[in-house]
Amino acid sequence: MKLRLIVLLSVALGLVSGAFLYSLLSEKRHQKELVAARAQGRADAEKAMADELAALKPVVLKKVANAESKPDGVHFAYEYVKPKNPELEPFYQLAHDGDLLHHLPEIQAIDGLLMLPRPIKFVMAECREPNAFYTPERSEVVMCYETLKVLRDRGQQLAQEQELGDDYAQRYLAANLRFILLHETGHALIDMLDIPITGREEDAVDQLATTLMQRFAGLNESSRQTADNLRMASNWFLVRSTGAYNLDAYADEHALGEQRYFNLQCLIYGSNPARYVGIVTDGDLPEARAKTCPAEARRVSKAWLRLLIPHVAPKYEMTEEKANRLFEQRERERNRNAEVPYVR
Ligand SMILES: [Zn+2]
Repeated sequence: MKLRLIVLLSVALGLVSGAFLYSLLSEKRHQKELVAARAQGRADAEKAMADELAALKPVVLKKVANAESKPDGVHFAYEYVKPKNPELEPFYQLAHDGDLLHHLPEIQAIDGLLMLPRPIKFVMAECREPNAFYTPERSEVVMCYETLKVLRDRGQQLAQEQELGDDYAQRYLAANLRFILLHETGHALIDMLDIPITGREEDAVDQLATTLMQRFAGLNESSRQTADNLRMASNWFLVRSTGAYNLDAYADEHALGEQRYFNLQCLIYGSNPARYVGIVTDGDLPEARAKTCPAEARRVSKAWLRLLIPHVAPKYEMTEEKANRLFEQRERERNRNAEVPYVR
């Protein structure tokens, strides 16, 4: 009886330790699989983003009559600098191999449109910190690979926390990339064209970035997709805010993250209050502010249009009325292309 018990016990112990060893091994294998799956997921997401941007039909502006004989605007230059930090290599590949900058609809829409004193050069590079900036001395708009990484990570975190779907992270990255580059382009235009700005330049270029995204989104992006992209850009303002401000923050040339967030909600809602009433009913924009947003949105887009029209190249020359007609026509076309009420 005793012997049987010992045998039984030792068999059981053997089974348990075997299972333990097995679980250790399989845990290791599982970890390996997880790492591989994550790498694969990342690669898939990056490819999906490159595909998504490549599929965007860029905006082509109509030329005026006898356009061929008239001068074109000054075209932009583009460069992808290879990073030294191996961690940033995937972002270099994403940008370089997919020629990302040539697939951003708003940048492409204004490339060659304006009479600039010299080309703006868009550079993607390693900066040793997440950043994006315009350098007047070099006429360069620089986007750091570190920023792409931070945006991708933030997109993945949001997607996971709120179960927003597999493609959310890459949409978040693309939307913020577009907004940030347009914001910096705004600084470049103000400097190069000596555009008069009253109020804070940082607010003015947020407004320009918003207007350009609303007017020059890809031809197969609906107004709603544009609004979604802008809302992802506004989310980024909140992410960097701790809410605990010191004097430096109050004195900064940028408005507080929360203020930039609400300014952007206001311009989205104001562009079409009926369509975006949800922004107010969901509590993302207080009613007291919302009331003035339609007028604010009209004023912002009109102001930027008036500021830029004198610099449009003769090839595309247009009046304010003609530009507005063109924008309306383009919005109809975009919504027709994008909002197919059936599966195709
Ligand atoms: Zn700025």
